[in-house]
Amino acid sequence: MRPIAPTRGGDFTVKTYAKSHQGYVRLRNEDSWMMRPVDFDGYLIAVADGVGGGPSGGVASRMAIEALDDAAGVEVRDSARLVSAVSMANRRVFDSGSEEETLRGMGTTLTAAVVFPSRILLAHVGDSRAYRLTGSRLDRLTTDHSVAGEMEKAGSLTHDEAMHHPRRHVLTRSVGNFNKIRVDVAELAWGTQDRLLLCTDGLSSVVTEDEIVRLSLSYSGQELVDELISAALTSGGPDNITVVLAEVTQDVGDADGR
Ligand code: MG
Repeated sequence: MRPIAPTRGGDFTVKTYAKSHQGYVRLRNEDSWMMRPVDFDGYLIAVADGVGGGPSGGVASRMAIEALDDAAGVEVRDSARLVSAVSMANRRVFDSGSEEETLRGMGTTLTAAVVFPSRILLAHVGDSRAYRLTGSRLDRLTTDHSVAGEMEKAGSLTHDEAMHHPRRHVLTRSVGNFNKIRVDVAELAWGTQDRLLLCTDGLSSVVTEDEIVRLSLSYSGQELVDELISAALTSGGPDNITVVLAEVTQDVGDADGR
């Protein structure tokens, strides 16, 4: 059994940073994100990338984030609670998509984490990503629920082949398209050497993992978020780009709790 209550942060504080950019090609930004504190010195963070005709993708991603925010509450101690909040988000988007003609078929990715000073909870559906950055090491914590991503996981495509596969954007799992969903879930220990990055495919489809590591060695906090967005824009910004970053820092006096 794992300890149920997260350890208090003591001298350690979680800080979060975020930015979203429409990119240079899309008519609107259909990505959404959130970050807010939860009990036990934690932060709930999430990104969502909407899919659907017309403006419905943006409706789906906003609705999913709002539902997650509502359902998670302030006490999200375990992954079951986080998964149930993601399931509520799925239900809300699915119901709206079923009821309203203009929203029919809308869906969204949803990658959410609760970040405590010494561990993280992760819930994931779709092809947005979570990365853990530790020094010059990058671990991708999520599987892309896309045709190419599933083929890469099964070993029938290399990482580079998956990155250029014509069906890399076709989702195999999403929030809001069916009344039930399967949510990938993880719980991981982490510490002051680690940073957690959530991003939509507007970043990961044009900025390589090597480049993400390179930037993470030179920048941190909001500067790192801004540099990552800039790198995606330099590569043409073909899609909406959203990045949320969580870091654990050691307090030096007047921490403001963020
Ligand atoms: Mg996208």
